[in-house]
Amino acid sequence: MILGICGGTFDPVHYGHLRPALEVMDALAPAEIAFVPNAQPPHRDAPGASPAQRLRMLEAAVVGQPGFYVDRRELDREGPSWMVDTLASLREAHPGRSLCLLLGTDAFAGLPGWHRWRDLLSLAHLVVMQRPGWTIPESRDLERLLGRYRIRDARALHDKPAGCIWLQSVTALDISATRIRTLAATGRNLRYLLPEPVREIIEQEGLYGDSGSA
Ligand code: ATP
Repeated sequence: MILGICGGTFDPVHYGHLRPALEVMDALAPAEIAFVPNAQPPHRDAPGASPAQRLRMLEAAVVGQPGFYVDRRELDREGPSWMVDTLASLREAHPGRSLCLLLGTDAFAGLPGWHRWRDLLSLAHLVVMQRPGWTIPESRDLERLLGRYRIRDARALHDKPAGCIWLQSVTALDISATRIRTLAATGRNLRYLLPEPVREIIEQEGLYGDSGSA
């Protein structure tokens, strides 16, 4: 069974993470998806919620969805959360299993800036999910990568443990955690952007500079 890996800061988790991940899981069935919150995001500023709060929100978001679970290995590790290290540790735990790293188009666009990014494909497949407002930029590195590894038939994701790139179309949801934090900071209603239990945690804990308001 394919193991999909959805890494991120999840500050907070929202439907733009959850719905595309569910659609990937269905498209690649049989599959399950591990959500992997990062400890110290290597490519961005410190998150607004603590790691424990981000973890709690993520756990509240996936509870009850078969095949979805939270993997806390990046939080339990010292130092920056390099995805290449995470994939290496997952590969060790699951030798021979097909691992698929899920990336929104924005994350894929930034891939050549990632630590040891060229090693990622020896550890996992990449599944790129369309994110509204983003296209794959013209970049020699990405063009070469796609030219070499892109597949047109998703069956290869089941047949091989790593090394392919698959572009998966998903429902376009123009939701970002940045926008949610801005809304929360100005006391706006967050309903229907993210699961209700997550909204309640934001409200109860007064995250992002406001009560999260209902
Ligand atoms: P922020 O706004 O704080 O940067 P974010 O909403 O982009 O956060 P992240 O936790 O940084 O969320 O994203 C984790 C992963 O989920 C990345 O691969 C990203 O591309 C993907 N992702 C996030 N939001 C969406 C969305 N609306 N549609 C598709 N993919 C998404």
